[in-house]
Amino acid sequence: MVYQSFEDPLGGRLPQPGGQAAAPEGELLLSGGRVVDPKSGTDRTADLLLCGGRVKGIYEPGSCRGGRQLDCRGLIVAPGLIDMHIHLGDLFEVSTDPIRGAVADGMTTGLSPGAGNTILAPSLLGAEVDRGLPMNVGVYIGAPNLLANLLEDREIAAYYRGELSFERASEALSRNPIAIRTGMLAVGVKDHMAHFIMPDEEVERVFSITSAAGLIYMSHTQDPTHAERMARLSKGRPLHLAHATAAGCGTHADPVEGMRRVLELVDGEAVTAEFVSSMLRENGGCREGLIMPPAAKELALQALADRKVRILVSDGQNDATMKGFGDSRDNLPAIIELWQGGVLSLLDAVATMTWEPAKLLAERTGNSSLRDQLGNLQPGALANVTVMDPLAKRAVFTVVNGELAGFEGRALRSGYGAGGLLSRFGLSRRTGVGDLAIYS
Ligand SMILES: [Zn+2]
Ligand SMILES: [Zn+2]
Repeated sequence: MVYQSFEDPLGGRLPQPGGQAAAPEGELLLSGGRVVDPKSGTDRTADLLLCGGRVKGIYEPGSCRGGRQLDCRGLIVAPGLIDMHIHLGDLFEVSTDPIRGAVADGMTTGLSPGAGNTILAPSLLGAEVDRGLPMNVGVYIGAPNLLANLLEDREIAAYYRGELSFERASEALSRNPIAIRTGMLAVGVKDHMAHFIMPDEEVERVFSITSAAGLIYMSHTQDPTHAERMARLSKGRPLHLAHATAAGCGTHADPVEGMRRVLELVDGEAVTAEFVSSMLRENGGCREGLIMPPAAKELALQALADRKVRILVSDGQNDATMKGFGDSRDNLPAIIELWQGGVLSLLDAVATMTWEPAKLLAERTGNSSLRDQLGNLQPGALANVTVMDPLAKRAVFTVVNGELAGFEGRALRSGYGAGGLLSRFGLSRRTGVGDLAIYS
């Protein structure tokens, strides 16, 4: 809010006795910031105008007037951060605290890979969306649960493409109609060597189903020998190595050797990888996760500089019981430090949590519209914006689907309800599941 005059900073918008508070206008103007949009290569001082939950455009500073205005001078205006690996309401943590924490940290979209998730997981998170979440959320299911039914593999793939009949699914997939209607909203599967080790035949089935259905195949990467096995079994089909920097922390092999062996598997095409932001921090990041020794960290930073690995994730949120290896509080600082430390340009650093995960989601799911809607500031994109203070390394404004959901490192209660459920089919602002108990 820019105060137009000292005498009347609210511009007459105070609620009048007996009247209604003025409704916020549809437009939101983010003025005077350094607008960084990796998709278009934009990096300049500009105004960003949002309207009706979408990006309207990037304009010369001062050239347009919006109804509401956020003063972004001295700040970086980036596409809303996407954390494609963050634990939100999965497995053990059933409160919405981690989601509130993540939006406070500037996340606008988070995908939760709970290895224990079943096909009922999208409905549970969907119910939370209906009851009001401040950010977009999505969910992976545990890899063995993809096979935990009586369907043939081609039918399982058809189900996740939304093409299996309800009748057939109710015979052989689940006896719960809500699970049947929503299970296909998972974005992918998580293979996790701590929870289960599947035989080769089952891994083969999971790869054949995920590649046919357009599901992300994410594998827990910590023991390089396990990652090598998964890469061998993938046979050229898509595989995403989760938190690959964990292999450089020395739990299952020498840290440098482990990091090197895992990086050798990454080709950037079929086999992609993500790094944990906390492990890349100059100060070592949060102290709850694994610590990566400097020599292994050098290899990881080089892989980022070489563009071999292009995605950062938190793999955790500080307020979650079920923590992964990191913390979403380290995401935005890691982006700033990769830029200021000369590892990446500002555009490429911002891309690690915006345009790069958006592209991977679109490629893996086969839904190219996700590339238009997420991780960029081009006209028509969902109005998700993270405004960063590069000095404080903090999210100043977090805009989720056009609504202000975070301010100065805090989630705004008024932003609850801004979020939606992100699936392979796109963003649903409401799933209807949360209304069932209320309206029967
Ligand atoms: Zn994992
Ligand atoms: Zn994880």
